[in-house]
Amino acid sequence: VKVLVTGGSGFIAAHVVDYLQQRGFDTVFTVRSIEKGKRILENHPDAPKERLSYVIVKDVAQDGAFDEAIKSDPPFDYVLHTASPFHFNVQDPVKDFLDPAIKGTTGILKAIKAYAPSVKRVVVTSSFAAIVNGKQHPKVYNEECWNPVTWEEAMDPANTYRGSKTFAEKAAWDFVEKENPNFDLVTINPPLVFGPIVSYLNSLDAINTSNQRMRNIVQGQFKDAIPPTGMWLFVDVRDVALAHVRAIEVAEAGGKRFLVAAGFFSNKVLVEAVRETHPELESKLPPKDYPDDFPSELYEIDNSQSKKILGMEYRPLKETVADTVKSLQDVGA
Ligand code: NDP
Repeated sequence: VKVLVTGGSGFIAAHVVDYLQQRGFDTVFTVRSIEKGKRILENHPDAPKERLSYVIVKDVAQDGAFDEAIKSDPPFDYVLHTASPFHFNVQDPVKDFLDPAIKGTTGILKAIKAYAPSVKRVVVTSSFAAIVNGKQHPKVYNEECWNPVTWEEAMDPANTYRGSKTFAEKAAWDFVEKENPNFDLVTINPPLVFGPIVSYLNSLDAINTSNQRMRNIVQGQFKDAIPPTGMWLFVDVRDVALAHVRAIEVAEAGGKRFLVAAGFFSNKVLVEAVRETHPELESKLPPKDYPDDFPSELYEIDNSQSKKILGMEYRPLKETVADTVKSLQDVGA
């Protein structure tokens, strides 16, 4: 069984590729450069070429970007589309975020429809960003909820990333409905993802966006003042990766979105988990009585669909924090 993973150099994708390999899938991943492709392969020295290889897709926003990558012999059975910009350096909202997110998603779906009729299912990495309603939280978030962000609101850098994920996911569901392709669609919608970085891909300066606050804690940047948390839901990267793989293994997952979330956190809670699991870092941490900004009232989340259909069990925060810090220490933190 053969799978294409886009954005193979990404934080989440690295774990997705590892799970696919462990579970016996032949895996091809896309990267933007030969150098990145080679580096990833070098770190899987035991994988034969037919088991793990890469193709270059330079910019997912270009028309026809996936037209060659999707043609394969033997042909692909599944596609996992994770590539999408995730950072907060918004210069040009449309060019930097909305185009690669939306055109990247519709582009791969078009390419599959045109050139890869063997593909049975496409899993798109969406986000809780496509679910959350910052203006008015419901009592409980579940897969029925959609972020009401408008295109105009997405021009504000504070909303651009969330807009990019919302419009891209909508475009994917619209495509499947209108084009009636051979494949069905699953989306995985995680909130903030923490977890072990893949050491061969990251330096501490170039760490992926969602682990940056963990790096900052470990480096002592929260010692004098803990910054506002800003968002309250997390999930472990290994659980997110497993959800992607289960999404192709479980037939009933087809046509569904999955809110893949473990639970709540605040920056203070992260600090305390670091103190508990890595006592050697005590001198880098703020005092124990530093205030916690976790709100007294907050929405709930319903992740039961992911448990029931994908069989997810979520790692607790302490385990996630312990292993994330260890991985940061391994690259010199
Ligand atoms: P990373 O930044 O580590 O990975 C993003 C990947 O997308 C990289 O492989 C990157 O390539 C690739 N990419 C970005 N823009 C382009 C482009 N224009 N053309 C080709 N490739 C591109 O982030 P994550 O692993 O965290 O994110 C992966 C997915 O998960 C994204 O869709 C993101 O929105 C989603 N997500 C992430 C969450 C998180 O907290 N981490 C939460 C919810 C969803 P390169 O390495 O060359 O830059």
